Amino acid sequence: MLRFAPSPTGDMHTGNLRAAIFNYILAKQRNEKFLLRIEDTDTARNIEGKDKDIMFLLTLFGMSWDNLVYQSHNFERHRQLAEYLLQKGDAFYCYCTKEFLDKKREIAKENHQAFRYDDAWAELEKDKNPHPVVRLRAPKETMGFHDEIKGDITFAPNEIDSFIILKEDGIPTYNFACAVDDMLYDIDFIVRGEDHVSNTPKQMLIHKYLSYEKSVKFAHLPIILNEEGKKMSKRDNASSVQWLLDCGFLPQAIVNYLVLMGNKTPCEVFTLQDCFTWFDIRKIAKAPARFDIDKLKFLNREHFKRLNEQDLAVLLGYKDSAIGALAKLYLQEASTLNEIREKVDFIFAKKALLLENLQNDTKAESLEILEFKDAIQTLQQTLLAMLKEQDFSKAEFETFKSEAMQKSGLKGKSFFKPLRFLLTGHTHGPELSDLFPILRLYLNDILRN
Ligand code: GLU
Repeated sequence: MLRFAPSPTGDMHTGNLRAAIFNYILAKQRNEKFLLRIEDTDTARNIEGKDKDIMFLLTLFGMSWDNLVYQSHNFERHRQLAEYLLQKGDAFYCYCTKEFLDKKREIAKENHQAFRYDDAWAELEKDKNPHPVVRLRAPKETMGFHDEIKGDITFAPNEIDSFIILKEDGIPTYNFACAVDDMLYDIDFIVRGEDHVSNTPKQMLIHKYLSYEKSVKFAHLPIILNEEGKKMSKRDNASSVQWLLDCGFLPQAIVNYLVLMGNKTPCEVFTLQDCFTWFDIRKIAKAPARFDIDKLKFLNREHFKRLNEQDLAVLLGYKDSAIGALAKLYLQEASTLNEIREKVDFIFAKKALLLENLQNDTKAESLEILEFKDAIQTLQQTLLAMLKEQDFSKAEFETFKSEAMQKSGLKGKSFFKPLRFLLTGHTHGPELSDLFPILRLYLNDILRN
């Protein structure tokens, strides 16, 4: 079984989503189940409702889970197994107080040495501390594993201390709950962020002491860098999945991008389902990948092209599929749902209001803008009069244009710029002759504004 194991402690970031996608694809490829495990062991940091957000996002991105568990529901099992390890002598109570350990840390720092927990300290403060933690005994030999992306990784015994598996309140630590649950749910392939590399030998050690022998595969994903090449942090907007969605990136484009980045794929534009046939985790580059928003914009446009016109119209808040077709004509200059919506909304917006904004933007009451306003008024009256007499819903642009030009008396730029503005709400954009076959269906709405 594969699993995605997010902590409900904050908003989902792109690195989490990438791990979810890869685990999901592997589950499909291997015909295995996909478990969603909410890792709520850090009771102080859990945030109410974040579990539901995670489920909402997974669903939005087209991933369904076969099984859902909250780690906290298994705390009793975790405690029983900790008890078992205590009895076997592979785990022990540690009574060290925080003050005691802080002091030892300070001494190590003064001596320019790395802090190491010493098992001999375990009971020194037994009289003082009624709430011991449980620690797992440090390994005596080198631990290692083969990572599907990074290759072989080893840890010398002195790199792993006897570490805490049950906190003083009896709540299991992340490493313990994770290793036990991976065992209980028969997880055989783990894909997660590379910040967990150093946890892997600890989790393997837990398995070993529990005599769990199943060989588990690991792939640790390189971190994602921001556009400046630094580790992406919460301050980088693109690290937040919700931010990307709010900008109007399509879930299918985000999935496409997160699979494509730092990967060798047979093509550039694909769907989550396409990945099932060719995805190979071993092709993910070891080096961190840099988040390239322009590439994501390109993919977003490609996925807009693939959307059917009716669906696109609905995404933009319109009913007619023709509006979806109209939106597609703007893909040269608009990349996100918000950018495209702005283009379409401007077509139907009150032009007088847009003109005011345009005027405020240019700030000055320049002669040019005054002439522009006049021309717009003249042309609007001409066009409305034309509409009263004829139905243009099947008209050619050439015919419409020639008649409007002749009746308004406007020529050249003084005709085309106002015409574009009246029809689209913008002074630049796609060829009017390309837009017209759709705009002609809505001329009444467009021009009455
Ligand atoms: N809860 C951990 C995280 O969100 C999961 C790590 C893992 O997949 O083991 O980073």
